[in-house]
Amino acid sequence: MTANHVDTSVSFDPLAIRPDFPILAQEIHRQKPLIYLDNAASSQHPLAVLKAMDHCYETTYANVHRGTHWLSEEASGLYESARLSVQNFIGAAADCEVIFTAGTTAGINAVARSWGDAHVQNGDEILLTLMEHHSNIVPWQQLAERTGAKVRWVAITEDGQLDQDDFAAKLNERTKMVGLTAVSNTLGTINPVKHLVELAHAAGALVMVDAAQHVPHATIDVVDWDADFATFSGHKMLGPTGIGVLYGKRELLEKMPPFLGGGSMIKQVTTQGFTWGDLPARFEAGTPPIVEAIGVAAAIEYLKPIGLDRIAAHETHLAAVAQAELDKIDGLHVLGPDPQLKCGIVSFVVEGVSAQDISVLLDLQGVAVRAGHHCTMPLHDHLGISASCRASFYLYNTEEEARHFADSLATILPKLR
Ligand code: PMP
Repeated sequence: MTANHVDTSVSFDPLAIRPDFPILAQEIHRQKPLIYLDNAASSQHPLAVLKAMDHCYETTYANVHRGTHWLSEEASGLYESARLSVQNFIGAAADCEVIFTAGTTAGINAVARSWGDAHVQNGDEILLTLMEHHSNIVPWQQLAERTGAKVRWVAITEDGQLDQDDFAAKLNERTKMVGLTAVSNTLGTINPVKHLVELAHAAGALVMVDAAQHVPHATIDVVDWDADFATFSGHKMLGPTGIGVLYGKRELLEKMPPFLGGGSMIKQVTTQGFTWGDLPARFEAGTPPIVEAIGVAAAIEYLKPIGLDRIAAHETHLAAVAQAELDKIDGLHVLGPDPQLKCGIVSFVVEGVSAQDISVLLDLQGVAVRAGHHCTMPLHDHLGISASCRASFYLYNTEEEARHFADSLATILPKLR
């Protein structure tokens, strides 16, 4: 997946990896095969990830960076090698640019607090797109409340792509930060991050890339993007909950005051005060998510040989298969751009039918989708809807499941109209 185009020519057989995900082999609601299409909310875990975490708890668990004893040193070694895996995976220039956080939300809040409070003032502007997740909205609105800065919004086009002319037009010398999602968790739109970062930098603004929906599904290179900050969550990329990554350019992180105070992030503490520690520990106050970091490293090792480009192509194919069927249903509207311009997310509304009711009846058919605003209320307001249904695919989903989802939908809708 590059810029806003997915190469669907590379194929991939999900059945080959399906046994790695025993949770998906279940039948629910009277022998209905479980079809899990809620991957944009959270993905499932291959045995390799579960085993790596279990193995750590069984053999190598202790708190990190604090003990001189063998177990602590072994655990610290694993924790730091997880950081190196992430560095390599996202193309960061240095391991100290990789901060382990609690998730995407935590990463954005850390930047809005640490960088934002130090650099944003009354009269400055923060530019957000209408397709941001609340995680990349509310921390900036809170910063605006604290400082008197103004939040401005980039429009989207009729077909759910970012309006790049509006993006360029809204950048000016007052813009200090741009909050940009790499992939919309509702529309599936893939934004041309590199180009938009270039425009923002030309105007003197920094960019916080929300990569929560990009990293699990496509190759990422933060240096190629030239992102100032980027963040994502372990639980959407086959890893555990409770962990995420904040990437920041070293020169920015080095000048930022830490957001959370506590153990690990200091050099020295006296009764008079404290001095900051070095990167990355400065931003990892307290006991970090140790085993979770090992889980994320195992997820990366799992994803790498399959290949992110093949995964992206597979998901786009499934979304296209589903969308072609959905397009045949009267009164159903799929949100966002054409399938070849987006990732494996198909959100839709059906005239006169509640999204919640659709998801409940789909669940009874064994199909797990999400209904609601998907933490994108400004986007839903803009579209004039209060909720939508979202099916989101991942590497283990099959074409048969995509078709079954569409067939189930066609079967249940007459009951709801
Ligand atoms: N941004 C996007 C685009 C997301 O899809 C999500 C998760 N729905 C988040 C941010 C928040 O991630 P987390 O809940 O893991 O912090």
